[in-house]
Amino acid sequence: MKYKSTRSRNLECSAAEAIKMGLAADGGLFVPERFPAFSLQEIEDMKSLSYNGRAVKILSRFLTDFTEEEIKECVDAAYNKSKFETESITPVYKLNQQVYFLELWHGITCAFKDMALQILPHLLTKSIKKTNDDKTVVILVATSGDTGKAALEGFRDIDGTKIAVFYPENGVSSMQKLQMTTQEGENVVVGAICGNFDDAQSAVKAIFTDEEYKAYLNKKGFMLSSANSINWGRLVPQIVYYFSCYADMLLSEEITLGEKVNFVVPTGNFGDILAGYYAMLMGLPVNKLVCASNKNNVLTDFINTGIYNRNRTFYTTSSPSMDILISSNLERFLYDITGNDCARVKGWMEELAAEGRYEIPDISKQKVKEILWGGYCGEEDTLLAIKDTFEAYGYVMDPHTAVAKNVYDQYFFETGDTTKSIILSTASPFKFNRDVLKALTGGVAEDADEFSLLDDLAKISGMKIPQSLAQLKSKSVRFDETLKKANMRDFVNKSLGIN
Ligand SMILES: *Cc1c(COP(=O)(O)O)cnc(C)c1O
Repeated sequence: MKYKSTRSRNLECSAAEAIKMGLAADGGLFVPERFPAFSLQEIEDMKSLSYNGRAVKILSRFLTDFTEEEIKECVDAAYNKSKFETESITPVYKLNQQVYFLELWHGITCAFKDMALQILPHLLTKSIKKTNDDKTVVILVATSGDTGKAALEGFRDIDGTKIAVFYPENGVSSMQKLQMTTQEGENVVVGAICGNFDDAQSAVKAIFTDEEYKAYLNKKGFMLSSANSINWGRLVPQIVYYFSCYADMLLSEEITLGEKVNFVVPTGNFGDILAGYYAMLMGLPVNKLVCASNKNNVLTDFINTGIYNRNRTFYTTSSPSMDILISSNLERFLYDITGNDCARVKGWMEELAAEGRYEIPDISKQKVKEILWGGYCGEEDTLLAIKDTFEAYGYVMDPHTAVAKNVYDQYFFETGDTTKSIILSTASPFKFNRDVLKALTGGVAEDADEFSLLDDLAKISGMKIPQSLAQLKSKSVRFDETLKKANMRDFVNKSLGIN
């Protein structure tokens, strides 16, 4: 299987090269030249496989330059008992006759980013070897919370890699900060950056585009790479849980073979929902993909009007991993629905960069609406969704999942569609304990400490505190440095043992 760029016709490479490079040389995103098809019989056959067995089946069809043995090694290193608290990896919870939750947060950092970031380091290091490179990869990440911690856990102590994560000094929750400052592993460093997330991100971007610095690192045997969600090695593992969920629902006889289902996805960078669309292209029986946004509703407007316009106020919400105005992976979706029209896609992305806006033609607007239904949920309604769902069913959602639940309710109200619907649950409520408790009890003391909040939430919900969060209490802080942007290269150099 060859990979192409979304922005030009002649670029072509292997899966290993696509994963190693992350972004195509023309600025486009890597896409497979076609999507492998799975018959209903093959989907039925997945019933008898474990999550890992299903993952090997799916990844093998995309990563054709990897042996099945290599893929199995990657899969088993990622999805196992030391990294996930549940045997089934992604359990399905039945809320009622029509609504289910696909829980993607039983991994070590308690958010769905683990699904991709536990396996990416293994795919990446194998890809580098395959392309005859022997450099040590240096992963640089700017994070507003979930990604940084998941990347640290994914890359910790992986041979041939080093990772440096930068977070905005005052831009992450206390729990997220603690998760990062206590990070273990011989090849990791973490730094706080003076300023907000944009400062941290632009500082990391500046390093990535500093050719002189990159050449210097190369000479010393290092190569820079990012772990962001446009890397094909992060996207492809996310297709697996859509199939796995369907197989599990066949197994528990909630659906019959061939029955269509809806997936409702809390969306930020459009990676998760895109993986669902790819599953649909591969033959998974999907009726609608419901795209749920928070108050940053740029995607809702796009789906409803065909106009993508990032020129709007940016809101900080209780679902921070969805606070995004440029959903990068949408580019891959546009490429597909225009029949791989790379010239058009390139034009829109250039308009987006220059003016912050583009509009797709009527025929594409129709196509978007056939596949997607878009809605958004404001802050008050997010907390209400948590409270109402708990009171009606005893089920506790985190704020990201609650956004999706609210948007599903809007979808059902407007369409009356009784298709069985699966809401992707993307974070443990314990990770966002403060807002969840606020929703459930009406108020939380400003100065309440994180661990007493975990206990409170466990008491009210009857759920077990995830071990990885409970254990933070006894861990010591390893990284307490706050850096100015100008000092980041020195910080990285020091961690690599060069100067
Ligand atoms: C990253 C994230 C999302 C958004 O996923 P995208 O792939 O960026 O659309 C939703 N919820 C949580 C908890 C996340 O960490």
